Amino acid sequence: MCGIVGYVGAKPCAPILIEGLKRLEYRGYDSAGLAVLNGQIQLRRSVGKLSNLEALLTESPLQGTTGVGHTRWATHGRPSESNAHPHIVQDVAVVHNGIFENHLELRKKLNNQGIQMASDTDTEIVAHLIHQARQESNLSLFDAVRKALGHIHGSYALAVVSSAEPQTIVIAK
Ligand code: GLU
Repeated sequence: MCGIVGYVGAKPCAPILIEGLKRLEYRGYDSAGLAVLNGQIQLRRSVGKLSNLEALLTESPLQGTTGVGHTRWATHGRPSESNAHPHIVQDVAVVHNGIFENHLELRKKLNNQGIQMASDTDTEIVAHLIHQARQESNLSLFDAVRKALGHIHGSYALAVVSSAEPQTIVIAK
């Protein structure tokens, strides 16, 4: 069972997201990551304990006041940095808890459109679907998430941010 946190407000969000993830640590996890908006999406992910992610943030800090964080418990794809959340497709970042049951069928469809996946997760698929919905129909992030989820079956929770809408976090379950 993973942990999901999000922050949108006036304060630097990285420390707030890390604190939120620490409070969810009891749920167990194999890797962790943050996406923070600062004109574009900045991503930091690491395998293992949150202290590894904190060390990465000390080396390479994140500025910005909107972001999402995640502790992952792998269901699809081994624990690794590339499978850790958030998953990003251009200006969209997604963190996800649960399983997209029709992920194989959707992956095949996206592959047939020439899309290469950067991870082995079911999660990355929804990031592509959200990005496609935004591109094809010029939808708001909220409407794009709603449209993308129309293609998904399963039991899940997710949080989504986009550098195109820096004051918004869309959540769904
Ligand atoms: N199914 C997703 C994955 O394997 C999410 C797992 C979780 O809930 O942490 O990345």
